[in-house]
Parts: sequence; C-alpha cells; structure tokens
Amino acid sequence: MAASRTCDLLIAGGGFAGLALAIALRQGLGAGFDVVVADPGFSRPAGGDIRASAIAAAARRLLEATGVWPRVAEGAQPILDMVVTDSRLPDAVRPVFLNFGGDVAPGEPFAHMVENQGLTQALLAQARENGVVLAATAVVDFNLGGARLTARCADATSFAARLLVGADGARSRLREMAGIESFGWDYGQSAIVTIVGHERDHLGRAEEHFLPAGPFATLPLMGRRSAIVWTEETREAERIMALAQDAFAVELERRFGRQLGDLSVDGPRRVHGLGFSVARHFVADRLALVGDAAHMIHPIAGQGLNMGLRDIAALAEAIADAARLGLDCGGADVLDRYQRWRRFDTMAMGVATDSLNRLFSNRSDVLRLVRDIGLGVVDRLPGLKQLFMREAAGLTGAAPKLLRGEAL
Ligand SMILES: Cc1cc2nc3c(=O)[nH]c(=O)nc-3n(C[C@H](O)[C@H](O)[C@H](O)COP(=O)(O)OP(=O)(O)OC[C@H]3O[C@@H](n4cnc5c(N)ncnc54)[C@H](O)[C@@H]3O)c2cc1C
Repeated sequence: MAASRTCDLLIAGGGFAGLALAIALRQGLGAGFDVVVADPGFSRPAGGDIRASAIAAAARRLLEATGVWPRVAEGAQPILDMVVTDSRLPDAVRPVFLNFGGDVAPGEPFAHMVENQGLTQALLAQARENGVVLAATAVVDFNLGGARLTARCADATSFAARLLVGADGARSRLREMAGIESFGWDYGQSAIVTIVGHERDHLGRAEEHFLPAGPFATLPLMGRRSAIVWTEETREAERIMALAQDAFAVELERRFGRQLGDLSVDGPRRVHGLGFSVARHFVADRLALVGDAAHMIHPIAGQGLNMGLRDIAALAEAIADAARLGLDCGGADVLDRYQRWRRFDTMAMGVATDSLNRLFSNRSDVLRLVRDIGLGVVDRLPGLKQLFMREAAGLTGAAPKLLRGEAL
C-alpha cells in the first residue's frame, strides 16, 4: 500500500451530502482543516442524472450560506403553489384536497425546483474554490488505529483521517463495512422520471396526483417545462419504460392532462427503484453516516436530499464546535451529538412518508373515503396547514445554524 496521506476529514461519496459537508467545513474552519472527498464518479462524465429536486427553504438557506445558491439561483424555479389530488386514472375531474402555497417568510417561497446536474456542478465548483481535495476513487476498506482511521482506496492510495464520513448513498459500502445494520423494505414501486415541455406556463404550480398505483407529480421548472416523478408498481414501470416514444407520450398525457396545452415528451427517461431504509446507528468509531447512506425514503414528499442537507448541517456544527475548542473532531462526543440531533427527525420524516405512500397507493374505496376526509380537514385548518408548510420547509425543531442561513 502507498504511504498514507493525512487529513482531518475523509468523505466517501461526492453526491449532494458529501460535497455540501466538505464545503461547509472548509468555510467554517479554514485552510488548516484538511478535507478530502473520494468518489469514483468524479472521473465519469456528468449527465446521467436527469432529475430535478424540490429544495425546501431551510436547505436553500444552507446553500445560500455556503455560497452555492448564487450559482444555481438563476435556474431555480420557485414553487408558488402546490396542490394534491386523490383520484383514479379515468376520473375526468380531480378534486383538490390539499393546497399549499405562499412563503415561509416574506419573499421566501417554501421550496424551489433545481435540476440535479446544475446543483452538482455548482457544488463541485464551490468545493474546488474552497480547497477541498477531490479524489476520483472509491473507499474500499478502513481500519482503526488510535487517533486516526486509515482508509484504503481502489486506486491503492490511502488516507489517515480523524473522521471518515460515509456519504456513499443508499447502498452504502461503508455502512456495511462498519457492521451497521439497517432496516427497511422495498416498495415494489419504481419512479419514472422525465422532463416535459408544455404550451402554457405552469405559474409555479406543482401538482401531486395520488393515483392508486402511486403518486404522479408534476414539478415546475424554468421555461414552460415540468419535471415528472411518476410512481408505478415496478412491473408496470418496466412496461411503460419499454414503450416507444409516442406510446409513452400517450400514457404520460393521460396522467398529466391537457390543462397546460400541448405537451412535448421527447426528453430522456429513467427509472428508479423505490425503497425505505434507515440505519440502526448513524455513527461508529470515527465514522458517521449522512444522506442516503443513513436513510432512504420514498420521494413522495421530495425530502430525501433535504434530509441529507439537514444531516450535514448538524454534523458540520458538531465538528466545528469541537475543532474550535481544540477537541478531536472524530471523537465520541461529536458523533453522539450528531446522532442525537438527527435520529428523531429522520424517523419522524421516514414514518410520515411511508404512511403517506401506504395510505394512498392502493385501490380501497374505504381508505379512499378516510383519506379524503383526512386531507379535507387538513386543508380547512390553517394552523395545521402552516405546520405542514413549516415542516416542508424544514423549519421545525432545533435547527442547526446553516439551516437558519447563518455561517458555521
Ligand atoms: C425519483 C426521485 C426523486 C427525488 N426527488 C427529490 C426531491 O425532489 N427532493 C429531495 O429532497 N430529494 C429527492 N430525492 C432523493 C434524493 O435524490 C437523494 O436523497 C439524494 O440524491 C441522496 O444524496 P446523497 O449525497 O446522500 O447520495 P448519492 O446522491 O447517492 O451520492 C452517493 C455518492 O457516493 C459515491 N460512492 C458510492 N460508493 C462509494 C465509495 N465506496 N467510495 C466513495 N464514493 C462512493 C457515488 O458515486 C455517489 O456519487 C429523490 C429521489 C428519487 C429516486
């Protein structure tokens, strides 16, 4: 093995969570705090991810505080209104049961839509500017040795770090290597994603139609375009994915409707299997899990990436507070603080999204009546709706500094 390079923090995974953590800590602790992000994807050409993400207000504040937001702001579409309907595919009219809208603070929409590729490029540019070392390799092994952990990479390099962060996604190899179990299940559903163009403007309106097979969401993008997240049972999703472009467009239009005029459905499409999983622990000796490596949830409420950014806001603050006192940034106190901060919120959001999906993704008329009454009640009580809005914006609970838009 080549000689180890020493660093304070090694992050395995350069997705949204890993890069945002690296940037926050370099900015908060300065050039004396060495941060390396390893990801084999750094050597692959960009362009595979055609998704767009709903970024809630709190996550946007973190991106603003770290200088990333100005790089994507021009292309970010505010969500000005969000309606939820509960209907069956042949229904001519889809009654609105729940309607969110407005700002979480004056002039601050509760969420924006941002295209994943643009956000990744912005995070990479910001990371480089802040002196984060980007290593195009995978972490394949690690072992503990006193005050540092030594991690070995696929290209035979190795790093001796005070803390290793697993930001390596839902199938986290680091989680597995650390012997941390996770519990969860496969939904037997898959999400088809694509981007459509339409004749008329969406006026910043997002729609989520709870159809029996799963939610069909249309999310507004800049320039008369919408991102589609279309959930189906996996076998049906595979059938739809295999359709020729014309037949695919017909299926999509049946769900999207004609309210925005003619649709152009000629962009690429992808399919993502959906599951739920939460790690039993978010930390181990000198190791912390963040983002999908710690938890993966159904995209029904567009919260996965937002939860990952909440993880990194909490972990960055725990690390920065310790480092400023001259304490070990990979010590047990730091890791315990992080885990306590994040466990409850994670479980609450996991249970909420799982229950929503179970309640809506079925064909029972009785359940339909129950949920119609449930949503109707929520829509008529402004206090409750406000709570939902604040939750969607990630503003409930004890928020770390970055989520309040403050510097670390
Ligand atoms: C259809 C769909 C729609 C969604 N919409 C939304 C939304 O609107 N809003 C929202 O908040 N969330 C949304 N999500 C969830 C969101 O996309 C994820 O939560 C988020 O991408 C997870 O980011 P991450 O950085 O944790 O992991 P990933 O993006 O999975 O990144 C993990 C990285 O780790 C790297 N890696 C893997 N193994 C190793 C290793 N051994 N060493 C080093 N690197 C490694 C990979 O190359 C990868 O780059 C959606 C998800 C789906 C499926």
